[in-house]
Amino acid sequence: MDSMRAARLHVPGGDFQIDEIPRPQPEGMDVVVQIKAAGVVPNLRNVMNNYGERAYLTVPDLPAIYGLDAAGVVVATGREVTGITVGERVYINPGRSCGSCDDCRRGEAINCPAYTFQGYFGFGPGSRDIYQRYPYGGFCEFATAPAAGLVKLPDAVSFEAASRFGYLGTAYSALRKAGIRAGSSVLINGATGTLGVGAVLLARAMGATRILCVARKRPLLERLQAIDPQRIRICPEHGAELAAWARGETAGAGVDAVIDTLGPTADSQAMLEAIEALRRGGKLVNVGGMSMPLTVNMHHLMCVQKSLIGSLWFTVGEGQEMADLAAAGLLDLSVFDHQVFELDQVNDALKLAEQRSGGFINVVIKQ
Ligand SMILES: [Zn+2]
Repeated sequence: MDSMRAARLHVPGGDFQIDEIPRPQPEGMDVVVQIKAAGVVPNLRNVMNNYGERAYLTVPDLPAIYGLDAAGVVVATGREVTGITVGERVYINPGRSCGSCDDCRRGEAINCPAYTFQGYFGFGPGSRDIYQRYPYGGFCEFATAPAAGLVKLPDAVSFEAASRFGYLGTAYSALRKAGIRAGSSVLINGATGTLGVGAVLLARAMGATRILCVARKRPLLERLQAIDPQRIRICPEHGAELAAWARGETAGAGVDAVIDTLGPTADSQAMLEAIEALRRGGKLVNVGGMSMPLTVNMHHLMCVQKSLIGSLWFTVGEGQEMADLAAAGLLDLSVFDHQVFELDQVNDALKLAEQRSGGFINVVIKQ
């Protein structure tokens, strides 16, 4: 049996160690992907600690292969696979579902109670069965994945850029749920973070003509604006009122949409101010997971038809649309600074990712 190298976690919260393990073979509708790049996300340490009494998510049994966003080349296909061929460059959308519950049969896999990220964590007890079937994250040399879970990559998307698709896709799905189209205005709350930078690039690719960026890190804001000074506007430097600024940038109306990327510990006041910046009928889509209680006046939201929407991850179809936008030259992924590490440097890579140096940095394991 051929073997492969895998960086595995053996102890909760410990370091990864390189092991030789059997190389997977494809069955049925699955493929085997030789991994070329995998993203390293700063939240990973929390998941690696999620064992025993500290468990609140469903995680793979130890020793576990983590790694959320993997891209590579298909090297083998199961007997029933017809639409994917050996040699194709692909991104593995890691979102797995049970395939047979009410939500899966409605075609809404992300709402499956067992929805599970290959190489990361799952949302329910059913995730355990999914990890039996798909135990491979991106921090190894070969991984199995269902053919239906693959995004085909055009030459315009490097493997390093594809390892960023998790953040990009999360932002893209949010922009779609917000109805962004040609001529839209959108405010990105937390625009210089890992989700925010992607949201700005994708809003631009989708035709938004006013992209208002809110963040504290001034040099990164200025770097964002330099991408497209005509359409990308950055918030005033000294504490101007957000809603007033947004109205000033949109002929008095307010923005069509807010993509809120602020993280779990952010101040709820920042989200309330973003809701204020919406026009009548506007939509706020939350992808950052701000977890403080939010007091909103639902009567007011009803009268002005504002919506607050939660959005998790993205579909394979949405991933393919992003790849197509990049192939057509509409989505420019050249802005990222890829910080590249070898597989056996994965512990150092995670330490760098945890510094959260802003959304232009992409920490990646390259093979
Ligand atoms: Zn299901």
